[in-house]
Amino acid sequence: MNMDSSVGELSFVGPTYERRLEKLGIKKIEDLLNHVPHRYLDFSLTSPIALAQLGETLTVRGYVATIKNQYTRSGKKIQIAEIADATASVLAVWFNQPFLVRILYPGAKVSLAGKIDWFGRKKAFISPEYEKIAPGKKTVHTGRIIPIYPETSGISSKWIRGRVKEAFTLNKSGLLEFLPDQTLKTLKLLTLKDAIESVHFPKNLRAAEKGKRRLAFNELLLLQIKNVYRKLNWQKNRPVYKFQIDETLIETFISSLPFVLTSSQSRGAQEILEDLGKDIPMNRLLQGDVGSGKTVVAAIAAYASCKNGYETIFMAPTQILAQQHFETLTGLFKSFGIKTSLVTSETKKSEVKKADIYVGTHALIHEKVNFSEVGLVVIDEQHRFGVEQRAHLVKKAGRKTVSPHVLTMTATPIPRTVALTFYGDLDLSTISELPAGRKRITTWIVPPGKRDGAYSWIAREIKQEKVQVFVVCPLIEESEKETMTTLRAATEEFKNLKKIFKPLNVGLLHGRMRIKEKNEVLGRFREGKTDILVSTPVVEVGIDVANATIMLIEAAERFGLAQLHQLRGRVGRGEKKSYCLLFTQSKSPKVLTRLTAMTKSISGFELAELDLKLRGPGELFGSKQHGFPELKIASWQDIELIRASKKVALEAFENPQKYCQLIDLNIQLREYGTASKEKTYKKSKQ
Ligand code: ADP
Ligand code: MG
Repeated sequence: MNMDSSVGELSFVGPTYERRLEKLGIKKIEDLLNHVPHRYLDFSLTSPIALAQLGETLTVRGYVATIKNQYTRSGKKIQIAEIADATASVLAVWFNQPFLVRILYPGAKVSLAGKIDWFGRKKAFISPEYEKIAPGKKTVHTGRIIPIYPETSGISSKWIRGRVKEAFTLNKSGLLEFLPDQTLKTLKLLTLKDAIESVHFPKNLRAAEKGKRRLAFNELLLLQIKNVYRKLNWQKNRPVYKFQIDETLIETFISSLPFVLTSSQSRGAQEILEDLGKDIPMNRLLQGDVGSGKTVVAAIAAYASCKNGYETIFMAPTQILAQQHFETLTGLFKSFGIKTSLVTSETKKSEVKKADIYVGTHALIHEKVNFSEVGLVVIDEQHRFGVEQRAHLVKKAGRKTVSPHVLTMTATPIPRTVALTFYGDLDLSTISELPAGRKRITTWIVPPGKRDGAYSWIAREIKQEKVQVFVVCPLIEESEKETMTTLRAATEEFKNLKKIFKPLNVGLLHGRMRIKEKNEVLGRFREGKTDILVSTPVVEVGIDVANATIMLIEAAERFGLAQLHQLRGRVGRGEKKSYCLLFTQSKSPKVLTRLTAMTKSISGFELAELDLKLRGPGELFGSKQHGFPELKIASWQDIELIRASKKVALEAFENPQKYCQLIDLNIQLREYGTASKEKTYKKSKQ
């Protein structure tokens, strides 16, 4: 047996248990040893029974004097035993475990651990941990600090403890260190073997913590190595064309804009232009709150690309946003002789007009455009595209070993630690401020009892202030695609609100509509003909209607904070005071904490950091399907360890000699490298 062996090789692990363990992500011995307890019980105090005090948590060792099953008045069976040692005896009580009388028969030597409490008028261990004492063997479940593991149905911590003990005993000589001594010393990390031992069999809680820190470091290091590898791999590409950046031309374009750039927009644009002038292709992520003005920054890059004589592709996550980007870009470039073309499901391949900038969704651009010389690919709301999709498009736009410059944008504020861990291969530009003059949006939580009141208030606002309202229906399933259930919910809500708000005009927008229909609905809303627009969550991002001042979100608890924040960003774009109403039926304190944060914080970054703490990164984007691996051992709060892992990863690539023991990670790296290559290869052959 070695670290790569299946857990099936351990005693008591047959196919059923293998399946259960797999639910915990455990397949190999290595996974089991890296299954870190989420807490510990301290049973290390062992005491003679005579000295055991009420309220104490401790271990006693003795023999079973008597044991019996007893029925309670409610007909349940309890097990009552008397355990004695040389000093005294004490009661132990369990509930509904009638088999215990067979295991703990009178005379059996036993070790018990738990808290001493009252049982009727007597002192007793209530549901203590127990194990029989075998000569020459150390106890596993009592008499020490006991790990409590993440469990799944059919697998208890007690069971895991036994398997971990066996796995560790049989494999400890195989736990080879892969980090150089010096690195361990500098970072104050335990060796791999010590770490695993400390995590599962800690001498004290501090030791357990130190062990966990090392294993967390390993987890992060692996991610960081992948990042560095991806980045180096990307940089091996050559850009299709090297750009000449003509500052004066760019200045002219910028001064043609109807507003002055904010300083972080300028900085972002500057960083991008610098990348474009280099002879390695850009791979940059531009992040900025909703409404911070990312589009225009991308437009500046597109302008540079066009002025160099190359095509630009502008990808949006939805048709509606593509349309909106198309209109914006066409407006911005009108007087510069730059042609824009919108690629929709209705345009035929042969009809796609030759242009400098193609705007559309990923799928459409993919199908319908024959590129000639793509200099730049802009991807809006990048988290909606899988890494694979992105790679594919970039490959298609470029040529085998060359690549266009790639700018991805996101309105989801990415907390620093996440950016460092998962987007470590991308360069990052951040727009940290909103254009001046934006007004604060008042946010309220609306419990069921206040629903009617909220509706009357909305009706009044519409009448008196002549404003418009977005209603976003709940996210029914954790899915990127709009499902039929989601659609039905929106349709129901639409009918419902039509009745409630009679005779106001209510519109419905969802992802299954044809683009023409969607445009008509949106057009009517823009022109102010529709008062209330009901939509599915899928159409969340980017729609820009200045007169819409109320955002009503149903079942707000189902959304991530970052997502709620994005939705809220749809209002507050004009002169009038804007509001966001978060409808929820939930009374859970955790939910209310999150939603209350929405009423207090206006910074997307603060909200994202908070969500990260409360829900984890998978939820950050509102869905677990973004290929966003959850950290199992490491924590998002640990910026120091995340930084250290990044540093070591870089060093390992610079100085492979020193890190020659990094075999395990290297193997995974190689696998990673070939896997991603094969995929791209297969796809592009289709
Ligand atoms: P997002 O970052 O959410 O994509 P947009 O690019 O859609 O934001 O910009 C939101 C709105 O702000 C647009 O109407 C845009 O014209 C406007 N805008 C962008 N930059 C500025 C600026 N510096 N000053 C004023 N308004 C701006
Ligand atoms: Mg945008």
